[in-house]
Amino acid sequence: MNKVNNIYCVGRNYAAHAKELQNEVPTSPMLFSKPTHALAKAAGREVSLSGNRGSIHFETEIVIRIGKPYEQGIKLEDIIDSFTIGIDFTLRDVQNELKKKGHPWLLAKGFPNSAIVSKFIPFPGIEEMKKIDFILQKNGETVQQGNIKNMLFDLQTIIDFTALNFGLGEGDLIYTGTPEGVGPVNDMDHLTLFWGNSVLGECFIKLE
Ligand code: ZN
Repeated sequence: MNKVNNIYCVGRNYAAHAKELQNEVPTSPMLFSKPTHALAKAAGREVSLSGNRGSIHFETEIVIRIGKPYEQGIKLEDIIDSFTIGIDFTLRDVQNELKKKGHPWLLAKGFPNSAIVSKFIPFPGIEEMKKIDFILQKNGETVQQGNIKNMLFDLQTIIDFTALNFGLGEGDLIYTGTPEGVGPVNDMDHLTLFWGNSVLGECFIKLE
């Protein structure tokens, strides 16, 4: 994997997911970030996660990789060099507590191995991407299936918003939000990430 600089994540970017967690649909992109220490690859091996901090949910997301410095007006095809499917693991019980207190989400979102990526493939352009669904299977059953055409804020909006507010350059990743169907992982779960019919990555959960 090429060097990763910043990891940005978009929250509540699919209406059906915002609804399933009883959240309001945002009126502008809602961003948070993860430390680079959170990164892990779905490379067919075990991924260790904390087993004693409440439930851990999978959130399956398209992850784009930025290939060059942002300039105003830059086209998606020019700035996104590749994409993959990732999992934004979330300590859901911890997050609910943080939300109640009005605290930042970092404790619930930034733990080691919370940012899963699978194999990056070249960015084919937005219209091509809309033709293919991304899918998470848990132990052989489809638990999430999404398509970027259902995003509340499209990739161009997310990129412009991120660059304007935080800066955006080569090596940055953006997790673009999860569709509905999030749920808990258990010890020994086998997760497989599909782009259409192609497997981009898989891993086994080890709760410790
Ligand atoms: Zn997410």
